[in-house]
Amino acid sequence: MRPGAMKSLCLLGATGSIGQSTLKLVDQHPDRFLIRALSAHTQVDALIDLCRRYRPLQACIADPVLFTALRDGLRAEGLATTPLAGAEGLQDMAADPGSDTVIAAIVGAAGVASTFSAARAGKRILLANKESIVLAGQLLMKTVADYGAELFPVDSEHNAIFQCLSAHGGRAGVRRLILTASGGPFLGKTRTDLAAITPEQACRHPKWSMGRKISVDSATLMNKGLEVIEAHHLFGMPADAIEVVVHPQSIVHSMVDYCDGSVLAQLGEPDMRTALAYGLSYPDRINSGVKALDFGQLGHLEFQSPDTDTFPCLGLAYAAISRGGNAPAVLNAANEVAVTAFLEGRLPFLAIADIVAQSLDAVPWEPAVDLSVLMASDAEARRYANHRIH
Ligand code: NDP
Ligand code: MG
Repeated sequence: MRPGAMKSLCLLGATGSIGQSTLKLVDQHPDRFLIRALSAHTQVDALIDLCRRYRPLQACIADPVLFTALRDGLRAEGLATTPLAGAEGLQDMAADPGSDTVIAAIVGAAGVASTFSAARAGKRILLANKESIVLAGQLLMKTVADYGAELFPVDSEHNAIFQCLSAHGGRAGVRRLILTASGGPFLGKTRTDLAAITPEQACRHPKWSMGRKISVDSATLMNKGLEVIEAHHLFGMPADAIEVVVHPQSIVHSMVDYCDGSVLAQLGEPDMRTALAYGLSYPDRINSGVKALDFGQLGHLEFQSPDTDTFPCLGLAYAAISRGGNAPAVLNAANEVAVTAFLEGRLPFLAIADIVAQSLDAVPWEPAVDLSVLMASDAEARRYANHRIH
């Protein structure tokens, strides 16, 4: 390792699925990575446990009601970690000079403000929180550029495209981006089959182990819709040059199609540690602990077109790109509300797409002038979607 190559990390969403994968990499490479800051939402005991293990400078509990519990818990452990709380605590931590890399792994629009804060502080950002870039893609890309920050996509598809583009030296000659989709747990099902789906069924993803919100998004194909919007902003490609193909084995993570007929792909086991390791160590490569692909065992790799009649969320995401302005923010917020209601047993699975479609039609269009306009649209879409559900 080069002298001085030690990276200091601020891990937002440490108690989640991406957070835990990141910590596995840190455990594997204690000589390369140092945890300086950690956050959770409500799992205060788990956060204190992590502080005991990693001894960060700061820890933030996003739910401000739990500040005292965090402070007292850290004290009882004799830890010098500074306790922080709330949205402001997350933003301060993301901008703190104590870390050079911020892993944005909070779920939902709750991660937007801290992602922007990291961008304004010129950090290297490993972006898992796709909702930030869906809600405010243009503004986020501009903020990253204006403040000299770096944005590394952690989403496996975008990480794959990023790797293909880096290998080739840029975007010249790119004809299409091809995002692969596993198809989720309900691939091949009809709308009739999906009428009585339970949260447990929807969260049982065949290939990836993830948090509950993204698991439901994978089951509705909204996840792929959010990823089309994400790719549109990250790589500056128009929506009609971003194609989705269903690939149930989740081995090809995505592809770039060039005008000469070449297609570059990135392959690997479905394990988020590969994408995280790439962002953490770039431009070096480190061992991620992910096993090597065994081509002799792989058998068939299948590809097919997505069924957009059974899974209308994908089409809604393309519609949100063409409407522009606040439409992706409205789509994202309505989806978050609908997914929460579904997970709490208050909304049928198939109604998630209906709520999103109705919200897109009902919330007035606004140009994406600044973040406050988009956050106001996010709030309005949440109000409208909640009103439709109750
Ligand atoms: P999880 O639900 O497993 O974890 C979410 C994390 O965010 C937890 O640490 C949670 O804290 C915290 N959190 C939840 N709500 C809030 C809030 N309102 N304010 C602050 N923090 C909050 O999610 P994942 O790790 O699966 O996903 C995280 C992000 O990464 C999502 O945007 C997802 O789309 C994206 N992503 C995830 C992938 C995966 O494989 N898991 C793959 C690609 C992208 P607590 O534990 O206290 O609730
Ligand atoms: Mg993905």
